[in-house]
Amino acid sequence: SLFALAVKITLFHINDTHGHAWPFTDSAGNIIGGFSTVATMIDAERKVNPYVLFLHAGDINTGVPESDLLNALPDIFVLNRMKLDAMAVGNHEFDKPREVLLRQISWAKFPFLSANIYKDGKPFFTPYIIKNIGGVRVAIVGFTTEHTKILEGPNSEDLEFKNVIEVAKALIPEIRKQADIVIALTHLGIGQGYSELYTTADQLAQQVSGIDLIIDGHSHTNLSQPIVVNGVPIVQAFEWAKVLGRADIYFEDGKVTKIEWQAIPVVQAKVVGKDEAGKNVYQVITPEAAYVKTALDYFKKLGGAKLDTVIGYTEILLNGERADVRSKTTNLANLITDAMLWKTGADVALTNGGGIRASIKPGEIKIRDILTVLPFGNTLYVLEMKGSDLLKVFEYAASVPNGQGAFLQVAGATWKAEGGKLVEVLINGEPIDPEKVYKVVTNNYMASGGDGYTMLKGQKGYDTFYVMADVVVEYIQKVLGGKITSYDDKPRVERK
Ligand code: ATP
Ligand code: ZN
Repeated sequence: SLFALAVKITLFHINDTHGHAWPFTDSAGNIIGGFSTVATMIDAERKVNPYVLFLHAGDINTGVPESDLLNALPDIFVLNRMKLDAMAVGNHEFDKPREVLLRQISWAKFPFLSANIYKDGKPFFTPYIIKNIGGVRVAIVGFTTEHTKILEGPNSEDLEFKNVIEVAKALIPEIRKQADIVIALTHLGIGQGYSELYTTADQLAQQVSGIDLIIDGHSHTNLSQPIVVNGVPIVQAFEWAKVLGRADIYFEDGKVTKIEWQAIPVVQAKVVGKDEAGKNVYQVITPEAAYVKTALDYFKKLGGAKLDTVIGYTEILLNGERADVRSKTTNLANLITDAMLWKTGADVALTNGGGIRASIKPGEIKIRDILTVLPFGNTLYVLEMKGSDLLKVFEYAASVPNGQGAFLQVAGATWKAEGGKLVEVLINGEPIDPEKVYKVVTNNYMASGGDGYTMLKGQKGYDTFYVMADVVVEYIQKVLGGKITSYDDKPRVERK
């Protein structure tokens, strides 16, 4: 170009917010996160800088009951107000039925970007956008992990998740012709070994040229500096808006000359001491933006009364820790599968550990707690299966490495595996009879092949439309009398 155009573009980003539109308390009592706090931080920059972008790298859905109940309307409503420029489509955008996703897209004043998700041979989402920022053409292109197909099972069945590298190799040169800066807004995950089967952000940087910056999500990575691969910085902003990513992109003489990046903790108020009554005393660090907070307060009230309903009391911790429910029996996993069995009178209950998303602390149990444990809205699905087919389910379960969401939690059965091979399954203490027909209850996610349980798909059966979370509430109230003093945590699975 003939004139020397020098522009600094400041790009803010968050990812994997999972319903955390509201500020929340960390283990030290500090009030952190919250879109209302993020808004204040971004607005401060907007006051002095006309060239600001704000992006979300996917997984807006699932994790906070106030948001889940309203299909993430609170999150989208305030992100509109905060003038979000674009969001990448994350795997969790498929947690709810398609009609909900389409409604979310219609609520949003920002595009849901993904260039590699196809339906009937055409991109299903907007692949990319180009913004003119102070005379600089900035392209933002979305990519979504191919793993979504397996993670989300039924709700992504009709879609094709094309290989990210192949799509990018064809698309990035096209975009480059129309733009001065190319930003990939991705929900892929960072790190060697994060996934061997699905494209990661570092593989994208390694194998495809023409990208200036990758703003990623999915692996919930807490970075203090960018990971640079093949000269391309890759950044991520942890999770839940606990941090706000900030990239300053310096553009001069037709090219990017420098990118500075930092992860800024999002802190609304810090504990500075205790008052006479022993209550925390706070110092406000970043005040909440009223135009966001007011809307969030309203949405919180909508679901509040229902969510605050106390349904029982537990004296013990009901363990739903991610690493535990994905590798071994826990009391909470037993309670949930026992509830499934009780409700349906099945011989055996099967549920994926990855579907159990939180623990319940000792104290009152509220509807909110149950929905935090079981946020997906899954229903109970009853199958009639021949013993020989049921055996295949356990053979697959035995092959799943520890730590995966597919880890099989059971009631009415026990199973043992060694080195990935099944060595024993007992149904009600008896070996499986290959000819017998068993009544099996599972969740609708697994019944339609989610988490790799493809052998369940197409089996004779029906959806009961009993919502798992409701069944657990009913079980705690009716069977446990609303009071838990201890619960069976005897191992139902043994692995070596
Ligand atoms: P993110 O996708 O934000 O990185 P995540 O915890 O969902 O976080 P994974 O650790 O890959 O990502 O967990 C995915 C697991 O979550 C799946 O393997 C599955 O066990 C469980 N899961 C996902 N969606 C559902 C669903 N609709 N119903 C039941 N379980 C689900
Ligand atoms: Zn996520």
